[in-house]
Amino acid sequence: MPSIFSKIIAREIPAHIVFEDDHTIAFLDINPVNPGHTLVVPKQESKNALETNLEDLNRAMHVVQTLAPIIVKAVAADGCTITTNVGEASGQTVFHTHIHIIPRFTGDGHISWKHESVSQEQLQTMAEKIKAQL
Ligand code: AMP
Repeated sequence: MPSIFSKIIAREIPAHIVFEDDHTIAFLDINPVNPGHTLVVPKQESKNALETNLEDLNRAMHVVQTLAPIIVKAVAADGCTITTNVGEASGQTVFHTHIHIIPRFTGDGHISWKHESVSQEQLQTMAEKIKAQL
């Protein structure tokens, strides 16, 4: 069954499209975190960014790099957050790869990550754990 984003690509459901070429589409998020919140979507369906073929991901990132400053300017934002969720645990709700461009405003209250203090030894152990999987 086609994803909701494939239905947008096929014009079966409406969206506010701000960019489109043969491989990528970008449209406004229906429930924006901030004004101008845009989703950049490879047209070829894949579940998430880790499962997208590299060419499509590169193309999408190229669109992100072009669009983000334009959106920031359009909404007079102070910066932006560029993010993609992988899996339900991360908050992914639509399982068709997409990259969020979220304009950010100083003091907009969207606190990002809660960082923890850890020791050098803990960092070393973690780095070893990851490298052991390479
Ligand atoms: P994620 O939680 O990373 O999977 O993001 C999915 C995003 O898609 C959410 O921010 C939703 O608001 C957005 N979304 C869901 N349905 C639509 C739609 N029909 N048009 C535009 N954005 C949508």
